[in-house]
Amino acid sequence: MTGPPRVAICGAGPVGLAMALELARFDVHSIVFERHPGTAVHPKARNINTRTMEVARQWGGGVTRRLRELDLPEGWTDQIVYTRTLAGEEYGRVTTPGFSGSGDHLSPERPVLSSQDRFEPVLLRAAIGSGKVTVRFGTEVIRARDEHDHVRVDVRDRSTGEEDHVSVPYVIAADGAASGTRERLGIPLVGRAAGSHNINVHFRADLAPWTDQRRGVMYWVADAGHRGVFQPLDGAGTWLCQISYDGNPVVRDSFSAERCTAWIRQAVGEPELDVDVLSISPWVMNVLVAERFRVGRVFLVGDAAHQMPPTGGFGMNTGIQSAHNLAWKLAAALDGVAGPELLDSFEHERRPVAASNAQRSFDNSRSVWAVAQAGRGEHPDGLTPREAVARAHRYGNFAGMEFGHVYDSAVITSDGSPLPTPADPVEDYVPVARPGHRAPHAWITQRGRPMSTLDTVRHGFALVCSGVRPWVALAAEHDVRPYVIDDPTVRTAYGIGDTGAVLIRPDGYVAARWPHDPGRTTAADVRAAVQRARGWS
Ligand SMILES: Cc1cc2nc3c(=O)[nH]c(=O)nc-3n(C[C@H](O)[C@H](O)[C@H](O)COP(=O)(O)OP(=O)(O)OC[C@H]3O[C@@H](n4cnc5c(N)ncnc54)[C@H](O)[C@@H]3O)c2cc1C
Repeated sequence: MTGPPRVAICGAGPVGLAMALELARFDVHSIVFERHPGTAVHPKARNINTRTMEVARQWGGGVTRRLRELDLPEGWTDQIVYTRTLAGEEYGRVTTPGFSGSGDHLSPERPVLSSQDRFEPVLLRAAIGSGKVTVRFGTEVIRARDEHDHVRVDVRDRSTGEEDHVSVPYVIAADGAASGTRERLGIPLVGRAAGSHNINVHFRADLAPWTDQRRGVMYWVADAGHRGVFQPLDGAGTWLCQISYDGNPVVRDSFSAERCTAWIRQAVGEPELDVDVLSISPWVMNVLVAERFRVGRVFLVGDAAHQMPPTGGFGMNTGIQSAHNLAWKLAAALDGVAGPELLDSFEHERRPVAASNAQRSFDNSRSVWAVAQAGRGEHPDGLTPREAVARAHRYGNFAGMEFGHVYDSAVITSDGSPLPTPADPVEDYVPVARPGHRAPHAWITQRGRPMSTLDTVRHGFALVCSGVRPWVALAAEHDVRPYVIDDPTVRTAYGIGDTGAVLIRPDGYVAARWPHDPGRTTAADVRAAVQRARGWS
């Protein structure tokens, strides 16, 4: 690594590593401290969603290709199956474009279903390969003290006990749900803790007789004696399952390999099944969001900032997308071009997204719970299991939730257009290039080759414009990269007609739009929007 680190990241989970990669994209050197000796050994997250793949697309270096190599084989991501036991009565199925991909009209990317122990090393290798990231495993952050113009980070080598420190302009707390950084800053978590208790079991077994003819991304099982889910990791016999229990620590500790095996056999419905338990890890389902995402020079990302039920696979994804929101802002601050509003806009933009994703993930978990109640004949409205499955249609169908969030902050210049009103804000996404929205994907032709509008954004701002007005000259005056769009369909999708333009931020969100320019937009207007987007109100 050349030059001293400008940012210290506490935690090399998926979000800490993504943060380092994002910073490297903007040429910002970082140092990552991780108390464990390496990346995760026990898998939790599986779903890298489409929006996160769009983020990874900007990292370059073949990261998306390497992640895609880890994807489940064809057919495993198309549906969720609900059953009494794997061998028993089937309650119903829900198709899941959220896990298999919504089509290349919405994104040039598709989600990847893999497992955390396999994809974290891809992120690690890319981060180190960037030449702008140092990772110190086996090193624990003891405290991070804001000393006004820098933060002093004290660390301890866990094998030698030796203490050391670094001084950096900014610190990222990516230290997970039990974040010591968050606790030391006294930031409370708001929401609902301990909504349910679960045992995550990583195992190998041949479940093909019950899954091969109905491949699925998940198999929820519920009966009087058991409730949980089977999740394929590689389509070749490696699985996770989540076993629900009542939260009693004695019960939790009783989940030995033998007990997990007995549970798996019962939930499959095959008493003689061969099961090889690889690892076991308990976890608690929380719906919690930190009251603040920033205190001075310290920023919270990932599970340190928000914890949500895994139903939907939004925890890590929300964290990585927050890192994407924050990195270019930190880079601007380090370059001395950020106005006072820019760093605050991180919390203003991302906290509502985290709160919303947490609530919607919780709604998914309730819809699954309702199927279990129906399976036991205990649904409060008397629904049959099939009827309860039909109501669980949002779980796996979340284009609106994934692409439709809108930022309403001081760094966005409104164009006065109304908010779109999708029929269902979770399932339905209305592609609009309205300020505050993710600039929609569309295929355009540049120098004779197809290109996604998402790729107009690299390290700086982009101005997607019609060729009629002198937008190109206006963009050049403000260090903004212009893209002239010839295709009238794309111009319509972007709402710029024959004369307008859209200013897009380095994270792919629309900062300003001039929908129909009657010839009055001036260099001063464009400058004002760029300045506002950089935090100068
Ligand atoms: C069963 C299950 C399934 C899930 N499935 C999905 C899914 O499909 N998709 C999804 O998006 N999310 C999913 N999640 C959520 C996802 O696992 C988490 O949101 C994600 O791991 C959070 O990443 P993180 O980097 O913020 O935190 P973590 O992964 O918890 O990493 C934090 C790191 O910080 C380190 N650390 C802590 N304190 C210190 C310290 N003082 N010094 C140095 N290092 C420290 C820890 O050792 C750890 O490595 C799932 C969760 C569960 C439980």
